[in-house]
Amino acid sequence: MSLLVVGSVAIDSVKTPFGERKEVLGGSATFFSISASAFTKVMLVGVVGKDFPKKYIRTLQNKGVDLKGLEVGQGKTFRWKGKYEYDLNTAHTIYTKLNVFQNFSPRIPAEYKKAEYLFLANIDPRLQLLVLKNMKRPRLVACDTMNFWITSSPQALKKVLKEVDIFILNDSEIRLFAQESNLITAARYVFTLGPKIVIIKRGDSGALLLTKNGGCFSAPAYLMDSVKDPTGAGDSFAGGFMGYVSSRNDLSESGFRKAVIYGTIMASFCVQDFGPNRLLSLKSKDIAERLANYKKHVQF
Ligand code: AMP
Repeated sequence: MSLLVVGSVAIDSVKTPFGERKEVLGGSATFFSISASAFTKVMLVGVVGKDFPKKYIRTLQNKGVDLKGLEVGQGKTFRWKGKYEYDLNTAHTIYTKLNVFQNFSPRIPAEYKKAEYLFLANIDPRLQLLVLKNMKRPRLVACDTMNFWITSSPQALKKVLKEVDIFILNDSEIRLFAQESNLITAARYVFTLGPKIVIIKRGDSGALLLTKNGGCFSAPAYLMDSVKDPTGAGDSFAGGFMGYVSSRNDLSESGFRKAVIYGTIMASFCVQDFGPNRLLSLKSKDIAERLANYKKHVQF
């Protein structure tokens, strides 16, 4: 089934306790589509500036990502700089330069408008809304966001959520959004706004899947002895989740549970190296091996 993502395509600079990288390929739609491409073909809607390196375009194309929806706008590519302390779970933003995203109005190629699966990756909620309005209602819509948009555009975000089936965000973000410290209570608040499912990413504590009808599934993170850079882990999780769901076309709760596990596995590859490096060298046998190990870790 066809999978469309709208989100940021970025140039990131990142500092973690284990190293630093400047001006590398980043962005929510980038990590999402590289991860999801392990399961299905992905169509991407976004914008970059004229300064966006051609080699990064080739990187995405080599993963089979359809870039007909990637515009090259006047101005510079979106840039994000962040750093992480020893607690790698929280990104501290040093700067966000929207650049070409400031005047971006997404144009959806005709063949994208009928996509069955849509992921609204972290981006201005007004752009997420525009994309939704320009499409035939997909079979499943999932959406992510971050503190930057929760604080600056809460009303637009609430409008987006009215149209969304699954809200995927991390624990600190849902606490901020719902103004509620308890994650279950915070998810119940989200259910009043539209989504039927909330997935809460909790860094190295794993992920929670909560459903409006009271269902709950908790998946630990894959145990790793070396984590270098958590940037993109959330988007890689979402890419694994949506990639798996759309490849199976299965909207049952048990299908979503399996998809959470694939999301967890893809995120674990992402954090092993800086930027999307590890995801780019991934083979399907690596995923299968890690899945088999994961099963051993959670069996009792
Ligand atoms: P995450 O999966 O949450 O670690 O996402 C990291 C990616 O989000 C980075 O590659 C950034 O380029 C991108 N990003 C950071 N801030 C924003 C923002 N305000 N809007 C859209 N994308 C962002």
